[in-house]
Amino acid sequence: MTSVGLAKIPPGGAPVFAAPGGPREYLIHEGVLLGFDSREGNFLEVVNTCNDVVWVRETDVDVIPKARSAGPAGQANLARATIVVDPGHGSRDWGGVGPTGLSEKDVNLDVSVRLRDLLLSSHDVNWTTGDVVAGSTVPAVDAVFLTRDPAGPLDGDYELGLAYRSHIANTAGADAFVSIHHNTVPTADPEGPGSEVFYAWSVEDSDRLASLIHQELLLSFQDFDVDWKGGVIRGARARIDPETDTDYYGLLRRANMPAVIVEGAYISEPEEEALLRTDEFRQAYAEAVYRGIVRFLTTPEFGEDVNEPELFTSSAGTASTSSCVVPEQPDD
Ligand SMILES: [Zn+2]
Repeated sequence: MTSVGLAKIPPGGAPVFAAPGGPREYLIHEGVLLGFDSREGNFLEVVNTCNDVVWVRETDVDVIPKARSAGPAGQANLARATIVVDPGHGSRDWGGVGPTGLSEKDVNLDVSVRLRDLLLSSHDVNWTTGDVVAGSTVPAVDAVFLTRDPAGPLDGDYELGLAYRSHIANTAGADAFVSIHHNTVPTADPEGPGSEVFYAWSVEDSDRLASLIHQELLLSFQDFDVDWKGGVIRGARARIDPETDTDYYGLLRRANMPAVIVEGAYISEPEEEALLRTDEFRQAYAEAVYRGIVRFLTTPEFGEDVNEPELFTSSAGTASTSSCVVPEQPDD
């Protein structure tokens, strides 16, 4: 019996219980993924989309057992790899907003879907120009899970807790966990793109994953001629909470595989918001992250611009789930 994996909610939804054998609490919406890492008989202990520990019955869900590792990063078998892609924010947690109203949550979801589609097909890649075309030299990965998916409830526009997101990656057995975001409030005028990629300080090799994705972002974005904005520190970064001496970002702190948060462009800036409205830029973003993941898994390469971890204390960025609502299956 599988005791770690994902429970996909099938058509019609699935009842959720506060305890094994206890009364039914609600019917969770079809298409939602729930991670489980223990069981009692037929009941699976899951973390719901609002970070609550609850239970579902194995017979009510589609079980996807935790994937085996595709091998050590650097020499992994790409065709056996499992990747979890996390579109940042959702629903009333919309993240950053551009000057003309573009929401980060929507761009994050679109870039994530493009990344998923790239990972699930085989390609030829020109590593010098970054061009990605249909081909056979880079195989498709085995599985990609989106933490929120347009095929799910509300076209994928629902709120997710940070613990939920990391729990999906951990229980899926992901070889890499990539969260897609965009930045706001620049503090510098860099020559090129102000992209930043935060790595999990607590997980070995996360800095390498971040550095490769950052290098590929610069390659993809150099073709776009805008007045880039950025922060004082760019590249691969980590933030450590000095009180706990652990990763500041809960998403990265809870991940048990190489994990990064990608901040592609500054949605708060007019020129970058305009870029983010285009298919070309979104695809360039997705292709950059795709190339970074492929290099990370299949080569020992390291990118540039890796910054030492920074001590960081702030209440900003600590996402609250107080408004979080679990998507429930509507009555027919
Ligand atoms: Zn964000």
